[in-house]
Amino acid sequence: MTPDLQALAAELGIDPVALHLKYRAERDRRLRPEGLGQFVRIDRAHHHRYEEDPRPPNRAHREPLTDQMEIAVIGAGFGGLLLGAELRKAGFQNIRFIDRAGDFGGVWYWNRYPGAACDTEAPIYLPMLEELGVLPSRKYAKGPEIFAHCRLIAEKFDLYRDCCFHTDVTAIHWDEASGLWTIETDQGDTMRARHVVVSAGVMDRPKLADLPGLDSFQGHSFHTSRWDYDYTGGSPDGGLSGLADKVVGIIGTGATAVQCVPHLGASANQLYVFQRTPSSIDVRDDRELDPREFAALAPGWQQRRMENFTALVGGAILDEDLVNDGWTTIPRTIRELVARARAMGMAIDNSHALAPLADMLKMGDIRARVDALVGNPVTAEALKPWYDRFCKRPCFHDDYLPTFNRPNVTLVDTQGHGVNGITPQGVVANGREYPLDCLIYSTGYDASSPYAERISFGITGRNGKTLKDKWAQGALTFHGYATHDFPNLFIMSHVQTGLSLNFPHMIGEQARHIGWILSQARDRGVVRIEATQAAEDDWVAQIDAAAVSMVEALRECTPSYFNHEGNVSRLNARNSAYGGGALAFYRIIANWRAEGLLAGLQLTQG
Ligand code: NDP
Repeated sequence: MTPDLQALAAELGIDPVALHLKYRAERDRRLRPEGLGQFVRIDRAHHHRYEEDPRPPNRAHREPLTDQMEIAVIGAGFGGLLLGAELRKAGFQNIRFIDRAGDFGGVWYWNRYPGAACDTEAPIYLPMLEELGVLPSRKYAKGPEIFAHCRLIAEKFDLYRDCCFHTDVTAIHWDEASGLWTIETDQGDTMRARHVVVSAGVMDRPKLADLPGLDSFQGHSFHTSRWDYDYTGGSPDGGLSGLADKVVGIIGTGATAVQCVPHLGASANQLYVFQRTPSSIDVRDDRELDPREFAALAPGWQQRRMENFTALVGGAILDEDLVNDGWTTIPRTIRELVARARAMGMAIDNSHALAPLADMLKMGDIRARVDALVGNPVTAEALKPWYDRFCKRPCFHDDYLPTFNRPNVTLVDTQGHGVNGITPQGVVANGREYPLDCLIYSTGYDASSPYAERISFGITGRNGKTLKDKWAQGALTFHGYATHDFPNLFIMSHVQTGLSLNFPHMIGEQARHIGWILSQARDRGVVRIEATQAAEDDWVAQIDAAAVSMVEALRECTPSYFNHEGNVSRLNARNSAYGGGALAFYRIIANWRAEGLLAGLQLTQG
């Protein structure tokens, strides 16, 4: 840090060196040699009951399918929906969506826990608002409204036709002779498709902490992504009357727990919140939206607002802040710091140099908020986060912290060590057993394992090559969606693409891109599309080059799924997003489309 910045830090009452040491010490306490191995993924083979859909089944029996379609889309969340809309607009009819869920919606189908809502403002999170002619009711939409919006997109673009819900894909493989993919499912289907789009999601594989005694608990337990209202009573709005006489424990204090803990605290007889690392809890400031705010905006406002948000949270320092909420405070603070530094006579030629100070100020405010809202000083101290703000997913809530003032709510802080194990009666933490009636796992999702291992089915391309083998040393793609030796396969994910913190923005850009390529292929009589080896090599080289600074920043962070639980490596960087930034990536693919050459793709006419 330059002497000028040190002087500014002193003026602001910040001691960057002391903070840095504190952050490091807190990180080091949490680093675990087993990394991702400390978790067990819930899947068909492991702890499957935690993955089962608690909703009453809404399906009629059907015979296994052996038919053929033009495009099969695996995954009916935002990715599938937005691609479906693009494809219908382009005139494609023969499309099939396949999902293990019973409807469209992806994470918003599964996540019905009390308090579920989106932390990103609804005017940029709910896609296609202008096209659908609707507006969200609140700045931060609640889960049921988002799920209804997903269904609205599906209805508007006639996507329900020919869907296979409650259907888990078990394997897909390419047949070179016919130029078709075969899709096998747990319903005995053997469908065939010319093109397959895999939009499997990032938060689709719930995980548990792999704790001693995990299977021994004899009370009731479930994962937050499969909330059991039959047991708890109530609804996503709360009122969990079934817990009135119950002792409840929840493991985890990430973005999900932050939203459901206030409802658990309000309803349970006794609630224990088992914490390893506190989240940063900023002001939520939710409100109803006034449609008049949006009526005056010029068409295209949603895309502009999305891009402005993605730029700001990606580190750009802009005068315009259209969303203007807790996510975008750091660039605002940087602008204020620039003014302050100049007033102190400092020459600031690179305002990005002020970012660490802006972050420290913000985290200081977050910690001060804990003191302001939590009565017990020991509990307050334990709830204070000590890391750079974007090392972990920031949270925004006005009721979470005050919940710890309730006499029936106890924070069990494990000081970075995590709970020790599960017994038939409850949870052991800090060497003490906490007997429970109900144990709720808010332990998140496997979002960090290499993509080909994480998705729940095998993908076999030309000559029997599996994606898992091909990507054993990290993902190898052209622009994230295509990979050589896997013709007519399109992947929608964050891997090697531009990752916006506003997920629907990212996935919408991919949907536009893939929809455009498929339309071009159809219009040009192309039946086979495949990334060339050269295009793939070139893109992976760009991914590697852009990863360098990202890797260094993540290494300093406390462990989370953002940095592969502290296991930061070049290989893991290959399995992550394009390090040049989301908007830069969207420009790369838009320019590629504008050239109209489909460069880097080998095209075979039918
Ligand atoms: P997370 O992965 O964020 O949190 C898992 C929690 O489990 C962490 O607090 C973790 O602690 C804790 N944990 C894991 N192992 C142990 C252990 N052995 N002992 C004690 N605690 C343990 O999962 P979430 O479901 O909360 O959130 C996942 C993501 O879902 C979010 O980051 C966000 O992207 C998304 N989400 C989005 C929302 C929205 O607004 N759209 C709302 C809610 C979630 P530690 O931190 O120490 O690892």
